[in-house]
Formats: sequence, C-alpha cells, structure tokens
Amino acid sequence: MQNFYYSVALPTPLRQLFTYHSSTKIAPGSRVAVSFNRRNLVGFIIKSCPKPNFKTIEIKEILDKEPTFDNESFQTLIWIANYYHHSIGEVFNNFLPPKLRKINFVLEKIANSETNTQVIKGSKTYDLTPDQKNVISQIQQSKGFDPTILHGVTSSGKTEVYLQLTEKFLKQDTSIMILVPEISLTPQIYERFRSRFKGNIGLYHSKRTDKERFECWQDCKSGNTRILIGTRSSLFLPLQKLGLIILDEEHDPSFKQHEGVRFSSKNVALKIAQDRDIPIVLSSATPSLQALELVDSKNYKFLSMPTRINGDLPPSFILHDTRTATKKAGIDISLFPIIQKTIDRGKKVLIFLNQRGFAPLLSCNACSWSALCKNCSVKLVFHKEDNILLCHKCQKKYEVPKKCPQCASGKFHYYGVGTEQIESELKNEFKETPLIRFDLDTTKKKGSLEDVLKKISDSNSAILVGTQMIAKGHDFSEVELGIILNCDQGLISHEPNAIEKLSQLLIQVIGRVGRSGTSKVIIQTDYPDDKNLNALKEGNYLRFSKYLLGEYKRLKLPPYVSIALIRTKSKDLNASMSFLRDIRSSVEASTNAHCIGPLPAPLNKIKNLYRNYLLIKDKDLIETHKTISKINAAIGKTIEDKKIQWSIDLNPSDYS
Ligand code: ADP
Ligand code: ZN
Ligand code: ZN
Repeated sequence: MQNFYYSVALPTPLRQLFTYHSSTKIAPGSRVAVSFNRRNLVGFIIKSCPKPNFKTIEIKEILDKEPTFDNESFQTLIWIANYYHHSIGEVFNNFLPPKLRKINFVLEKIANSETNTQVIKGSKTYDLTPDQKNVISQIQQSKGFDPTILHGVTSSGKTEVYLQLTEKFLKQDTSIMILVPEISLTPQIYERFRSRFKGNIGLYHSKRTDKERFECWQDCKSGNTRILIGTRSSLFLPLQKLGLIILDEEHDPSFKQHEGVRFSSKNVALKIAQDRDIPIVLSSATPSLQALELVDSKNYKFLSMPTRINGDLPPSFILHDTRTATKKAGIDISLFPIIQKTIDRGKKVLIFLNQRGFAPLLSCNACSWSALCKNCSVKLVFHKEDNILLCHKCQKKYEVPKKCPQCASGKFHYYGVGTEQIESELKNEFKETPLIRFDLDTTKKKGSLEDVLKKISDSNSAILVGTQMIAKGHDFSEVELGIILNCDQGLISHEPNAIEKLSQLLIQVIGRVGRSGTSKVIIQTDYPDDKNLNALKEGNYLRFSKYLLGEYKRLKLPPYVSIALIRTKSKDLNASMSFLRDIRSSVEASTNAHCIGPLPAPLNKIKNLYRNYLLIKDKDLIETHKTISKINAAIGKTIEDKKIQWSIDLNPSDYS
C-alpha cells in the first residue's frame, strides 16, 4: 500500500515539525491524532514531504473531514509562528476552540447555511454627524487592505459608526469581526448590536463554555454568523467572506497575550486583513504611539472624531497636591465635601484606584516581618470580606496569622489601600449613598459583571469605586466627578512605555466622566509639578502623544527601535542566568544589537519559578528578526536543558 508522508506540527514547545505517514491523502490545516513520546496528541498537517530515511509512525486518525483552518488562516498562522519565533503546533492550538483541541473530537463537514442577519426594522438609528459620515464614507471607499487609525474621544459616536459600517458590509454579503480587549467589554457592545441587528451575532471569549464556543465556531463556519464580537481568541474563527475587521480600544495592552504565544492581536489582525486584502479599523480615544507612528511611516489613514456627540466639553482636570494631605482610605479628606456636593446634585462620583482587595500589605508591628507569598516574590493582599491573604500572582490563599511567625507578637498593621477598603470607609462616610465596587472580585462570577453594570445604570447618585476595569470603554451616565488615586506609580515607573500607559489611562478615566459643564477630574499626586502631568492637564491626548513620540524618538525607545525580551522561567536561577549570558555573548559576537541584562524580572519569582530576562534592542524589526534567527540557531545547539522554559517577547507591552 502506498504511504503519504507529512510534516506535522505538535502542540509542544519544540520548534520543529515531525514526520508521520498515512495511507490517506490529507489536506494541510487538518487536525490528526498522533502518538508522540507515548502520549496521544492532536497534530496539524503542515505539508507533504518525501519519505524520510528513518522509520516513521502512522497517523492514528484524521480528525477533520475538511481542514479546521482554511488556506488563508493556515498561511497567517504559519506567519505568526515565524514572526513570534514560536512553535507552530502551539500557535495552531492557541486559536482552536477547546473542543477541537481534544484528541477524540472528530469534526464532521459543516453544511453551508444562509444567514438571516439584517437590520431590525424600526430600530433606533441616528442622523450621522458630519464626522461620523466622513469616517464611514472613507472606510467604505477603502480598496482592499487599507488600515484606518480612528481617533474618537469617548462618546464621539464610534460605536454608532461600527453599527452603520456593519450594516453596509452585511449588505455587500461579507462578515464583520469586532474585537475588544477584554471580556468585561463584550456585554455592552453585544447588546448594542443585538438591538440593531436580528439574526445570529457571534460572541466568543474564554468565559463562554466549551459548548458555546464550539457552537459559535460552527455558526461562523456555516455562514450563519456574519457578525462576530470577541476577544483575541476569536481572531481565527472561520467567518465566511470576512470583509471588515474593527479593533476597538486599539491601545489596550490586553490585546497582547502574555503567556504562551506572545502575540499582539493588533499585529495579527493587521496581517489577517493584509492577507485577505480587506479594510481594518483600529479605533481608540487614545491611539497607541505604535498606531500613530504607523500613520507616519506607512501612511495609514488617520481619521478623527474629536468632539462628543452632545457637544459637551471634556471635564476640567485638576492636579491635587497631596504632599501634606490627611487621607482616609487613600483619599484626601478635604475632597469629601466635593464628593458630598456631587451626590447632593443627584450625580455620580467615580473613584479610580488600581489595587483590589482591602490592603496590599500586612506586616508585624514589632519586627520586620511582612506577609509574602511562599511561591512568588510578591506581598500578599489582605481581602477583608473573605478574611484571607491572597497572592494576586498565583492565587494562593493564606489564613490571616494570629501571631507573627517571626516574633510571635500579635500586633499587625495593614499598609496601603485597596478598592475594598475605600468601599467600606466611604460606606461609613456617605451612609445614604449607594456604593458600587467594580473590580475583579465583584465581577468574576458568571453574570455578576452584567449585574454591576445594571446597578450602575439604574442608580442616580452613587459612588463608583473601581480598578482599571472601570476606565475601559464603559459608558456610565451622570458621572460628574472623578478622583484618581495612584497615578504616581506610573510617573516613577522604569518601564519604557510607562508614561504612554499612564496618559492613556488618565484620558480613559476622564472619558468616563462628565457630560455637564461642571464636571471635573481630580488627580491626587505628590508630584504636582511633573512635566508630563502638566502637559496632559490640557486633556489634549493627540497633542500630548505627538510630544511623547518626539521624546521617544530622541531617547531611542519603541516604536523607533525594536525590542525583544528573551524571558526565562526556571527553578534554577543560576542555570537561567548563565543561559541568558550565553545568548548575550552570541548576540554580541554576531550582531550589532544592544543588550541589557540578564536581569531578574521585577516579579522575580512566580509559582516557585524564577523569572529573568535579557533585553535585546535593535534599530528595527528586520534587524530584530535577524538577531533572533542567529540566537535561535545558537540556542538550538546549547540548550538540551529542559529545566529552563524560555520565550521570546517581541515588542513587549509589559516588563513586569
Ligand atoms: P462612543 O462609542 O464613541 O463612546 P457612542 O456610539 O456610544 O460613542 O455614542 C455616544 C451616545 O450618542 C450613544 O448614546 C449613542 O446612541 C448616541 N449617538 C451616536 N451617534 C449619534 C448621532 N449621530 N446622533 C445622536 N446621537 C448619537
Ligand atoms: Zn514580628
Ligand atoms: Zn503566589
């Protein structure tokens, strides 16, 4: 019997393909079951290959009646593996719904079905503003791959633009993919689409069940679903005749995956649009410096919607000096009367603090002991409601000690403030006012996010306390006062992109506030003279980001240089450091790249694994790819040592 030979990618970190044979012809992109090191794995057919001169194993089962990934997705996935220097098998696996990752799951051929998605008759549409009209007509005129960076301040009518664009692309019989950075943003946008379109609208993210995710995948494949709303895991859902990609809140770091394949959804979405030759819109109230640089260097279209629909001006922005302040739960008590006045007017107050829990540090009054996680190099956070100490990195829970483990004293002190503490203090202070906390702890149960959002929209005057979740894309009405508590951390951070992140966060929080002339945002700071804070004070993000781009160019920071972090995780600190030192030597011997490190990562230990990195800076991405290819070859030779997990983080968004 004739055998066919195939190069198969497997979901393992090994960056190579494996040869198997079968008596059947199998198309590239198909899933197959194979045996590997006495385990059964789902592999992916990459290509046919000649009969090798070693003995091969037979493919156990063909799991797809037609390839899971169509040819275009297949090509883009291979590109991702090359671009991010990652194992092809892990890349394919990453973008499958969980059911299709299972060895015993055979995918039958899916019949085509007609979509019945169309505009609901009588649904509320608007006469577009001139800005909205301009944006829609320019995007509609796009010929093939033609990226647009859309700057639109909060409430400038961006979502309405997405809705009307969707209608136009549906009429041309194409599908539309709308990507948002976080699950918490899906309910709001999904509802907006549901009240405009009847028929099937796909919703895909990791909080949906395996069954729901597979059904969504099937509906895309059959053509039943033509509108898809999802997070980065939806990038390769098999929408038929994809015609437009919209990436909302383009600047958000959550579009980057921080584990496994460290891809940027934005880069991948751009590549998908390029491969399929379709338009793509990257939209934000605070476009990333990367996006703005692309407008300069690649001539991407730049469109702006600089004013709010109702003509309201942005709130005024006050830097509030806290160097000598008396604080309660982190808030200067001199601000309490302003909070009260806002409530008395029947309006809402939003308090932003990027720390959940009650207090981020518990320590002994008598000696130097403080509560640390045994597995990670971080302090434990006290959660009062659950009466536990929690590690926010490995999620391990600890009992609150009765006595100090070091000196047996029974007196402890809680340092710092978290959202739970603000909630409980302000409940005492403003007894009549509803207090709504919006953070991971109050939204993690199924349905609780929707409950919190509903509670917010149902109440008139209220105090909202939240972490960065509250700053993102949500539309709250009647917020007249915003108080921002810990922006100083961003000012003193050493991360190269810290100021960019801080400026986006501040403008986003400001975006949640104020539709009336009296609204304001108060920023508590110990650095009221800081140059960046003062430049931002005008609230003109675009002007600020142009200035920042100039600074980054001068300081040779991304996006004007290209950075790759070689990250390691290992129980063996010395072995990782020497592994990274070897890489550094090989980089320095064979390239012009500039290295910093090896260094311990700021979060030096998580789950008992030491984390280190080597930062490699090149003049551009092309040079970075050359550098990485060289070290890949060198690593291939040196690393037999499986004790070190290593990964390449290209243009990191996070240096923790
Ligand atoms: P964004 O997504 O930029 O925050 P939205 O699309 O949500 O803005 O618009 C803000 C508000 O204005 C929404 O309540 C929306 O229904 C309404 N809106 C949008 N476009 C128009 C328009 N052309 N005329 C009147 N109201 C509009
Ligand atoms: Zn002690
Ligand atoms: Zn831990």
